[in-house]
Amino acid sequence: MAYNYSNINDYDVLVIGGGIAGIEAALNLAYQGYKVILVEKDLSIGGKMIHLSKVFPTLDCAACITTPKVSETARHPNIKIYTYSEIKDIEKLGERYFTATLVQKPRYVTDACTGCQLCEEKCPVVVEDEYQWGLVGRKAAYIPFSIANPRIAAIDIENCTFCGLCEKVCAAGAIDFTQEEKRSTIVVKSIIIATGFNLFQSERLSYYGAGKFKNLLTSMQMERQLVPTRPYNNVLRPKDGKVPDRIAYVLCVGSRDKSLGNPICSQVCCMYSIKQAQLLMGALPMADVTIYYIDIRAFGKGFDEFYKQGVGMGVNFVKGKIANISEKENGDLILRYEDIDSGVLKEATHDLVVLSVGILTNPDFEKLFKTTPLLKDDYGYVRQVSELLSPSKTSIDGVFVAGTASGPMDIPDSILSAGAASTEASVYMKGGAS
Ligand SMILES: Cc1cc2nc3c(=O)[nH]c(=O)nc-3n(C[C@H](O)[C@H](O)[C@H](O)COP(=O)(O)OP(=O)(O)OC[C@H]3O[C@@H](n4cnc5c(N)ncnc54)[C@H](O)[C@@H]3O)c2cc1C
Ligand code: SF4
Ligand code: SF4
Repeated sequence: MAYNYSNINDYDVLVIGGGIAGIEAALNLAYQGYKVILVEKDLSIGGKMIHLSKVFPTLDCAACITTPKVSETARHPNIKIYTYSEIKDIEKLGERYFTATLVQKPRYVTDACTGCQLCEEKCPVVVEDEYQWGLVGRKAAYIPFSIANPRIAAIDIENCTFCGLCEKVCAAGAIDFTQEEKRSTIVVKSIIIATGFNLFQSERLSYYGAGKFKNLLTSMQMERQLVPTRPYNNVLRPKDGKVPDRIAYVLCVGSRDKSLGNPICSQVCCMYSIKQAQLLMGALPMADVTIYYIDIRAFGKGFDEFYKQGVGMGVNFVKGKIANISEKENGDLILRYEDIDSGVLKEATHDLVVLSVGILTNPDFEKLFKTTPLLKDDYGYVRQVSELLSPSKTSIDGVFVAGTASGPMDIPDSILSAGAASTEASVYMKGGAS
């Protein structure tokens, strides 16, 4: 391919994915003097961590840790962030360079936006809010969430009725319906894949009644109910707005299940469920919280103590396999389960049930490369060619993997993995071993 070498020094490294792993890798490289381009497909960087309430096992506020990192990344002179953008057609250019196409999707709002949210207030269209995991609605003109970075509105063009109210009210003149998708070619010396994970979704969720029973939530929806910027002023049952007092967790939903094609443990569900149970006991001191589990995997530093802290606070742990869930007229849910120790089938009624959904691969990385595909492992994650000795190396020299793109892991491990990926990328760019 003919390429204009004049802008070959624009960037050194391309980081794909602006979750905690991508942010950490970008910062590490930027502080070493490398020029980094960070490409995030959503409207804001921050990944899943920015949606969380507190983190296990310390119960530190997730946003208090993420937002300073997010602003540090946004302000760093060696980092250029492209949100609402994607990468396509990566190809090797000679021995030491890669070319890629950067696709910037139109927000229909320019950088002149001051984040005042007047457009959001006036917009008459309400659709499901994906940033609150469907618990409430959002407008077609919107800022995705209060701590979004950049804090610039976007127009959801698919649902916009073109009534023009947002344009009329915007004092900054930032609404621009003429914006189009922009494509450009970038050249880099190394690439870090930090595209993260997807949450388990399949018919199995509807088998449990998800989408049908209003008082059946996923764990991410419960995270949103527990954050300070929560959609309701308290933890509530979505069906009738009542404060729940008999809450159940069902562990291993979509994990450790060969029949669903996901035989591995998601590594975080036991611990985030114990975390949420403790937070619920603080938010609703009169509530009973029961966790139905197959095994409790509390393997990290301080994890077993965290589990025992939950037991001490009165969280009820039942070793039971859920057979099915049905709904009563008042919205309460009946759990039928096999009590694993006695082998007896039992029933219990709860007024709110949380499915602790597992972690799955995000297959996006498979579409990034034009000719030589990035290989995947048996579980669909980016293949680590030297898993034990050099876990960030992938099947392509100069391309490294960080965080949950290589498999389920928690935040500290994602940060460690980003450290490894950025170090390997730095060594590679200095001409060392690939
Ligand atoms: C309910 C729940 C609670 C949790 N609680 C805790 C906890 O208390 N403590 C803890 O340690 N861990 C917790 N975790 C795990 C934690 O969320 C992960 O460890 C962490 O988010 C992994 O970060 P990441 O950057 O690898 O992935 P992600 O957070 O998934 O970030 C990936 C980023 O890449 C972007 N992206 C994806 N594809 C593309 C693409 N093609 N192009 C550009 N960008 C792309 C995504 O939009 C996203 O911003 C929890 C997980 C869940 C589900
Ligand atoms: S687009 Fe205009 S009205 Fe909307 S948040 Fe930005 S400045 Fe405010
Ligand atoms: S033009 Fe579209 S985004 Fe703007 S207020 Fe009307 S419906 Fe909302």
